[in-house]
Amino acid sequence: RVRVRFAPSPTGNLHVGGARTALFNYLFARSKGGKFILRIEDTDLERSTKESEEAVLRDLSWLGLDWDEGPGVGGDYGPYRQSERNSLYKQSAEKLLESGQVYRCFCSNEELEKMKEIAKLKQLPPVYTGKWASATDGEVQEELAKGTPYTYRFRVPKEGSLKINDLIRGEVSWNLDTLGDFVIMRSNGQPVYNFCVTVDDATMAISHVIRAEEHLPNTLRQALIYKALGFPMPYFAHVSLILAPDRSKLSKRHGATSVGQFREMGYLPQAMVNYLALLGWGDGTENEFFTLEQLVEKFSIGRVNKSGAIFDSTKLRWMNGQHLRALPSEEFAKLIAERWKSTGILTESEGAFIQEAIELLKDGIDLITDSDKAISNLLSYPLHATLKSSEAKPVLEDKLSEFSASLLAAYDSGEILGALEEGHAGWQKWVKNFGKSLKRKGKSLFMPLRVLLTGKLHGPDMGASVLLLHRAETSGVVAPEAG
Ligand code: GLU
Repeated sequence: RVRVRFAPSPTGNLHVGGARTALFNYLFARSKGGKFILRIEDTDLERSTKESEEAVLRDLSWLGLDWDEGPGVGGDYGPYRQSERNSLYKQSAEKLLESGQVYRCFCSNEELEKMKEIAKLKQLPPVYTGKWASATDGEVQEELAKGTPYTYRFRVPKEGSLKINDLIRGEVSWNLDTLGDFVIMRSNGQPVYNFCVTVDDATMAISHVIRAEEHLPNTLRQALIYKALGFPMPYFAHVSLILAPDRSKLSKRHGATSVGQFREMGYLPQAMVNYLALLGWGDGTENEFFTLEQLVEKFSIGRVNKSGAIFDSTKLRWMNGQHLRALPSEEFAKLIAERWKSTGILTESEGAFIQEAIELLKDGIDLITDSDKAISNLLSYPLHATLKSSEAKPVLEDKLSEFSASLLAAYDSGEILGALEEGHAGWQKWVKNFGKSLKRKGKSLFMPLRVLLTGKLHGPDMGASVLLLHRAETSGVVAPEAG
């Protein structure tokens, strides 16, 4: 039975790296008909905050990565916050103490420092060499009676190696002789991180641990604890780092890196999910466009790459454009309407105007905010004023003065407006007749028409642009100062 978990520490925002780990866990669970569990690792009480936990939950929900067990949902293996699981850690620690796989260590900090110094001088690994690994029961009772503080130390085999078969990296092995007996519970009774994670994964019956590569050193300790507790070992899959384009570790100085920032910038969750999936995974074809459902269908952990993936925000932006254009038109229109109303471009959401605008401008819109500029560009050239102004004319040849005079006359007589009122067909008919009267067609007709009417040499479809401008000028849906 597949049970995987995403285990964020609520000490900040959900970053793209964490989000990708969550996504891979989600996809693995969904593709195997398993469970996706969310566990909050808030043992670091100093740095963990409720706000951060809420932000992480919100961002995961926004991405559509719903969890089957965890905060807000419950489940049979709770509680799902480490801060609420202390008694479980205590129980497990006591069990290991009883079986002798853990012992009490009464060494003071000074003693430990001294051991470290000696090891350093002798160029030996910093392994625990204190007497408590082999102390007699009498010696222990004596210290207990005195009330000397003690830690719980894990007895690591002094030789041999440990190996795991990582689902992404293949065989990974460690020599045990350099590890040394490590602490699993501090003298104040606080269990250490690696111990909590192991107890949680074991008692939550996690079958596959899919997490960031940086946790690989923890895996050694965790695997030893697993064995000692007598739980079957889960499968491990360590996902590579996400790198900046210069191959350094991705950080704030490379721009937005948290999911919340991208949401606020107007990114679509489906584009974010699609892009994150491609950071280290592909279905083996050229295809890069996937919905969440398609990802569930195609995902396989064996196809996750073991080398670092480059986070390319330009590509993410492009991907967002792909997903915007793939939206059902009413949804696209709704986003645009919200955007234009919030920026004051529109006075009211006029469905037909927005639909036409989207049709005309969508190819240039990768991010919803791009639409502001696209529409303002169009609106900043009011038909009549543009036609009358000389701004566009220098690009035209001198002999076009007759052309522009005829066009202005046609406008002033109401002929153009009348044609525009009849929509696309009316406009096309008028253009054809106008061309005939000047003995022009093709480029020699359309190029000057475009320049004189829209103020620009290039742009989206001219007829649709002019019709939209006309609609903007006559319908009152556009705020007068827009553009
Ligand atoms: N809480 C750890 C982190 O946020 C994850 C630990 C794990 O997945 O085992 O990096």
